[in-house]
Amino acid sequence: MAGRRSIEMKKIERDLGKASNENYDVIIIGGGIYGACLLLTAAQAGKKALLLEKEDFGAATSFNNLRTVHGGLRYLQSLDLKRIFESVAERRWFFRNFPDLVKPLPCLMPLYGNGVYRPSIFRLALILNDLLSSNRNTGVVIEKHLPNGQIINNAKVKQIFPQVDVQNLKGGAVWYDGAMPDSQKVLIEIIKWACELGGKAINYAEVTDLKIKNGLVTGVKAQDKTSEYLYEFSSSKVINSSGPWCRSLAAKFDRDYPELFKDSFAWNVLFNKPALSTHALAVTPKKPGARTYFIHHWKGFLFAGTVHSPWNNNSRKPIPDENAVKNFITELNSSINDLNLSESDVLQIFPGLLPAKEEGSDKIAVREIILDHGTNGGPKGFYSVSGVKYTTARLVAEKTLKKIFGKEIKISSPDGRDTATSRELGIFENHWIPEKPNGWETTLKNIIQNESVVHLDDLLIRRTSLGDNPKLALKYSDKYCNLFNWNEQKTSDEISRLKEFYNSRRITNLDLSN
Ligand SMILES: Cc1cc2nc3c(=O)[nH]c(=O)nc-3n(C[C@H](O)[C@H](O)[C@H](O)COP(=O)(O)OP(=O)(O)OC[C@H]3O[C@@H](n4cnc5c(N)ncnc54)[C@H](O)[C@@H]3O)c2cc1C
Repeated sequence: MAGRRSIEMKKIERDLGKASNENYDVIIIGGGIYGACLLLTAAQAGKKALLLEKEDFGAATSFNNLRTVHGGLRYLQSLDLKRIFESVAERRWFFRNFPDLVKPLPCLMPLYGNGVYRPSIFRLALILNDLLSSNRNTGVVIEKHLPNGQIINNAKVKQIFPQVDVQNLKGGAVWYDGAMPDSQKVLIEIIKWACELGGKAINYAEVTDLKIKNGLVTGVKAQDKTSEYLYEFSSSKVINSSGPWCRSLAAKFDRDYPELFKDSFAWNVLFNKPALSTHALAVTPKKPGARTYFIHHWKGFLFAGTVHSPWNNNSRKPIPDENAVKNFITELNSSINDLNLSESDVLQIFPGLLPAKEEGSDKIAVREIILDHGTNGGPKGFYSVSGVKYTTARLVAEKTLKKIFGKEIKISSPDGRDTATSRELGIFENHWIPEKPNGWETTLKNIIQNESVVHLDDLLIRRTSLGDNPKLALKYSDKYCNLFNWNEQKTSDEISRLKEFYNSRRITNLDLSN
C-alpha cells in the first residue's frame, strides 16, 4: 500500500529553475483534474513526472463542476454498461481515498408518470442500478456507504421536498451518489499525494512551445508567469491535458484535430437562498424536450444546474448573458412552488466549457479522447487527452499512461493513501471569522508554505473554503495578506485581483465591500 506514513510529507514545491535541471519520463500540460490525476497515476507507476499549469491548479473548468461524483444511474437510459461500471468504480475511488472530502449524496426525483418516469419503470431501474453497483461500498468506511435506491410515496416526497409540485405527482425515486462540497481541495490533495510519491507540479507556468528534434519530442518551453522568465524542461513524452485549450495547443504543436474538443458551454448557479432539501432534487421543467436540473444543497445554499448550450466564441472564459440567466430562473420558478428566485439572488455563476458531441451542439461528448500525435504523423511522444467528467479523470489518466508506456506499467495500488495522517484541510464554516487566535494562522501559513500559494485568491478560493463567503473573504483580506508579509502595494493588488475574480462570476453587481 502506497500509504503516507511510509513516505515523507512533501510540499508542492514551486522552483522552476530547479525543476528545469531534471529529465522527466513525462511532462503534463494543464493542472485541472485530468492533469492532477495524470500526475498522481504516473507517480504511482514509478514514473518521474512534471505537471505545468499556466494559472493556478484547478482554476478553470475543474473549479466549476456541480460537485457531484457520479455513479452510473444516468447511463442506464442508454444501457451504457461500460460507463456504468467505470463510473461506479471511480466514485468508489473517491470515497476510499477522500472520505473526509466526499460524502453520500441522497437524490430525489419526483415522478409524474411520463415515459420512463413512472414508478414501475423507475423501480426496475433502481434495482438494476443497485445490482450493477453491488460492489460500490467495498473498502469504503461504513459511514460513507451508499444505500440501495427506493421508490417513495407522495407523502414522503412532500416531506423531503415540501415545495414539490404535487399536481399529477406519482411518488418519487430516491438514489445515492457522491458529493464533494470542496472539490477544489480534492484536486489539491491529489496533487499533494502525487508530490509525496515523487511527482512535481508547478502553477503559473505556461507551456509556450513543444521542443522537437528529428520528429521526436524532447521537452517543452514554459514561461514563469510570475517573473516572465522562460524555462526549458526535458522529456521524450508530453501529454496535453489542457481541457478547453487542448485543441488549440494540439493545433499549435502539431495540427488541428477537431475531435479533441468541440466547444459546448455549461454552467451552474449558486443562489443566496436556503437549500430546498437535504436531498439533491432532480427537477424537469414541464415543457417538451426540457432537460433535468439538479437543485443541490451546497453548504446550506441552493446550488442549481447544469445549464447546457452551444458555444460559438473563441473565449475560453465563458459567462452566460443576462437573458440566459433570466430564462433559467424562470424555468426553475415555474417548476417549483413558491420558489420566487430573482436575478438579485444570484450569488455566483460556475461556468465552463466541455467537449460536445458535435460542433455547435449542447450535447456533451460521451467518452474521452486519447490521441497519439506520433501515430497520426505528428511529433512522436506527443499525446492529447480530452475528458468529459471530473469523476472519471483518474481512470482516463490510467488509460492514457497505459497507451503511452504500454499495458505492462504497474500502477501501484490506485487506492491506498493513508488518510489517517492529519491534513491541513483549511475548510471553515461559512460564517467563520479570523478573529480569535485559535490556530488558524498556523493552519493558513502551513498551507501557504506547502501548497504553492502564489496569490491571495489561490489561498482563499482553491486551498481553503474561505472564499465561499465573498463578503467575509474581502472584509478580512488584509488579515490574510498579513500572513504573506506583503507590502502595501502588493496587498492592494492582491485584493483587487480577488475582487476581479468575484466580479467575473456574477451577473448582479453585488456590493462586496461591506
Ligand atoms: C458547469 C459544469 C458542471 C460540471 N459538473 C460536474 C460534476 O458534477 N461531476 C463531474 O464529474 N464532472 C462535472 N463536470 C465536468 C468536469 O468539471 C470536467 O470534465 C473537468 O473539470 C475537466 O477537467 P480538465 O482537467 O480537462 O480541464 P480544466 O479544469 O479546464 O484544466 C485544464 C487546465 O489546463 C491549463 N492550461 C491551458 N493551457 C495551458 C498551457 N499552455 N500551459 C499550462 N497549462 C495550460 C488551464 O489553465 C487549466 O487549468 C462539470 C463541468 C461543468 C463546466
